[in-house]
Amino acid sequence: MMQDPISRRKALLWLGAGVAMPAIAACGTPASAQNAYRVSYSEEEWRRRLSPAAFRVLREEATERAYTSPLNDEHREGTFVCAGCANELYSSATKYDSGTGWPSFYQAIDATAVGYSTDYKLGYPRREVHCADCGGHLGHVFDDGPRPTGKRHCINGVAMEFRPA
Ligand SMILES: [Zn+2]
Repeated sequence: MMQDPISRRKALLWLGAGVAMPAIAACGTPASAQNAYRVSYSEEEWRRRLSPAAFRVLREEATERAYTSPLNDEHREGTFVCAGCANELYSSATKYDSGTGWPSFYQAIDATAVGYSTDYKLGYPRREVHCADCGGHLGHVFDDGPRPTGKRHCINGVAMEFRPA
């Protein structure tokens, strides 16, 4: 049976519109403003639990200075967990040296470890990545990573702790 090229094109257009929509929705609800996370504390309590540097990154979406995290040079086998709630985020198996001065990974440890939103802090859209369990800001995801994903999860070291295997 012949496929109708026009209806196929329409379907692709619809598909394109569908893909664009989640980014718009995410923009209206910043991750840090949502209260639906499994781990949730008041701002006061987060301040008490986190170092000042970790609080600025995880709860206020700051970015640590490049080349300041000891985790840049962490090459042992193990797991990088959220400094806010100990959720397992990244495996050493997907860590690589991106040359940017921030710990970099080509994928999260599993599909439910992290969540994404879009931010416009630098005037253009960036894919923000946060801990799926506490909503803490981790860093951003870019499309210039290595195989097999082509993604670069550029993560603030202060937002994580390392657990050797
Ligand atoms: Zn967390």
